[in-house]
Amino acid sequence: MTHPTVLIRHCDAYDAGRLAHILGEGMDALGARPHGRTMIKPNVVVAVRGRYELAHTRAEFIEGLLAAVRARDGDVTELAVGERSALTVPTRFGFHHAGYGPAIKRHRAKAYYFEEYPNVEVPLRHPDALRPYVYVPTPVAACDFLINAPKLKAHAWCKMTCALKNYIGLQDSGHRIIDHDFHLHQKIVDLQEILTPGFIAVDAITAGELTMMSPTPRRLGLIVMGTNQVAVDVVCAHILGLDPHAVDHIRIAGARGLGPLDVADIALGGDVPFEEARARGAGFQLSVEKVDAALRRKTDRITVHLGLPPDAHGGDYCWGGCPGALWETVESLQRAWQPDVYERLRPMTYVFGDYRGAINPKPGEPVIFFGDCACWRGRLNGRVVEVESTYTPHSRIDPRRHRASVDVVRILLRFLWDRVRHWRRPYHRVYGCPASMHEHHVRLAFLGGAKNPYFDARLFLSFTSRYVWSNLVRRWRITAHSHLRRPAPGPQRAARAPLDTRHDLTGQP
Ligand code: SF4
Repeated sequence: MTHPTVLIRHCDAYDAGRLAHILGEGMDALGARPHGRTMIKPNVVVAVRGRYELAHTRAEFIEGLLAAVRARDGDVTELAVGERSALTVPTRFGFHHAGYGPAIKRHRAKAYYFEEYPNVEVPLRHPDALRPYVYVPTPVAACDFLINAPKLKAHAWCKMTCALKNYIGLQDSGHRIIDHDFHLHQKIVDLQEILTPGFIAVDAITAGELTMMSPTPRRLGLIVMGTNQVAVDVVCAHILGLDPHAVDHIRIAGARGLGPLDVADIALGGDVPFEEARARGAGFQLSVEKVDAALRRKTDRITVHLGLPPDAHGGDYCWGGCPGALWETVESLQRAWQPDVYERLRPMTYVFGDYRGAINPKPGEPVIFFGDCACWRGRLNGRVVEVESTYTPHSRIDPRRHRASVDVVRILLRFLWDRVRHWRRPYHRVYGCPASMHEHHVRLAFLGGAKNPYFDARLFLSFTSRYVWSNLVRRWRITAHSHLRRPAPGPQRAARAPLDTRHDLTGQP
């Protein structure tokens, strides 16, 4: 069996010219030949100038990739950069703040904002896949050569985010939150069936510690390249000081035969020895605590009661869902928007899962039952309260019909309407599995008195104009393309299996 190659290269500056040289050398050494519809998939989970500067793959890195491809583009029919940002934020907004526009223009590439395209159904064939099919936007289904360009960061749900995890952004918001609970690691592995990348280049020049949205910068001065997702993630896990067997999505991908889990089975190359790369990452700060312990270290203003997830598979904590989102939301608020948020918050109580203990809020303190699976019986401020779980087992969720409301305006209006309708109720209820991180922002702002980033006056015009334009384009495309039956399969897919697609014409934001 041939061992997949992973190259570790030194690069200590975001210099587009130098990056183009290193990345081009990597492509040549790995035999990666861009062809047909070639798409670069960065990580732009969020990007806001002056606020979230470190969460995304840097613009210079993308420019380097675009230049490297253009220097080898004999068989390239289309060059694009495609992504779906998270947090209900329009990807247009993310690309603008990440500074991708000029580079995309200079290299005559296209930008694909996935939420603005219709979705097609792609079958999953592995017997252990969570469901028989998933939905992806048409540019993803039509891609012939994918360049996966993740940012190496710590991650509160998954310990780390790199090549495998970057595939979550191949789906739009409505479909990506399906199984984004304690099945998250399995979902990440299932998505690998959609496309095999032709080239992987990890932006680890400045990696991100502790959080994925507003990480602490950590200079590693590295670019990691390969063509096998598991092998690249295994090497990067070691650089961060993690055992790849302890990162569930890497372990599951390895067990499914998608790549080697042991470094001994990887052909290492490049100009940085593996041990030196590990030394550069020594002491890398991860985020592997449950939300109650993590917040207890920070503040006494948020009380968290953790109950069990609704399924034995979930263990004793829903790692991919609602609880971790609270930590990521409030920690990123503190780091990027409101340094004193932990001191200024009004006391709040959060309840996740099937909680059986007592809840003793202070007078006037909001109690929030967060997520479909939250349930509890007892007395709140002298009143008998019975909160029922509305959780739907994942096997009963059909992505063809599932319509999660992850629109930023709808979430806000739903919260306000809920306050009017249930103004006498002694608790707050948030639905969704998982409920969006924006639901946390809304509660922290309106109930806890925290700053709401969505109301930042300096971003209002920039955000609102792109939100409106993005929705108009999406509606137009879905209507205009309603006659389509299936995208032409690229050679990579054709070699694996015929693509059986079905349009989801309602679209998802
Ligand atoms: S609703 Fe429950 S099971 Fe679903 S993501 Fe939230 S905590 Fe996890």
